[in-house]
Amino acid sequence: MTMPVAANLAELHARIATAARAAGRPPEAVAVVAVSKTQDPAAIEAAIAAGQRRFGENRVQEAQAKYPALKASHAGLELHLIGPLQTNKVKEAVALFDVIETLDRPKLAAALQREMERQQRRPRLFVQVNTGEEAQKAGVPPGEADAFIAACRDRGLAIDGLMCVPPVEESPAPHFALLREIARRNGIVGLSMGMSGDFETAIRFGATLVRVGTAIFGARRADQPVGA
Ligand SMILES: *Cc1c(COP(=O)(O)O)cnc(C)c1O
Repeated sequence: MTMPVAANLAELHARIATAARAAGRPPEAVAVVAVSKTQDPAAIEAAIAAGQRRFGENRVQEAQAKYPALKASHAGLELHLIGPLQTNKVKEAVALFDVIETLDRPKLAAALQREMERQQRRPRLFVQVNTGEEAQKAGVPPGEADAFIAACRDRGLAIDGLMCVPPVEESPAPHFALLREIARRNGIVGLSMGMSGDFETAIRFGATLVRVGTAIFGARRADQPVGA
């Protein structure tokens, strides 16, 4: 079987460049997190061979099974956690991930701070905002985001960005606009928003990171809930 991953990545970068230029932004202002959940190492290797270096996984355990070996054989990989983080997995997450995009509650902030101190390893942190206020979805409610960001900063945690996963059944644009506004008023630069189906819209609203899975790797073997 040939790997369409390289061709998919080339097409993705072309679409990103077009969307960025249309928004008056330089294409290099938008980075791709290749979402490799459920994909096997061969598919990830194909993406690495095509020049991809940033990857996202939504489960700590799955990432632990795949990425230590990949990181050992490829310098410069940057691994993002894009799924919910339980406090009992914080130790493993701090050891493995370079960016944790799903910080969303005080207890997790406290656990991350302790563990980062203990390991002397500082993954960059993004706060996940539940812009749709969906009961089943992770993320801090929009109305509590400013206070939560301030509380993280008070305990010495730098917040590099915000992340959201809009409700599937709604137009994503208002959610991206809301995330951008929360970032702006808190002086936050990073905006992780946009997936295979809506990254062009996200770029229009200022995304600095787009998290793209199926448009790179094709359909996932077992479909998994997104951002739950
Ligand atoms: C799976 C996942 C993605 C990628 O979704 P695609 O539609 O395959 O591009 C992005 N973000 C999160 C949080 C995910 O869980």
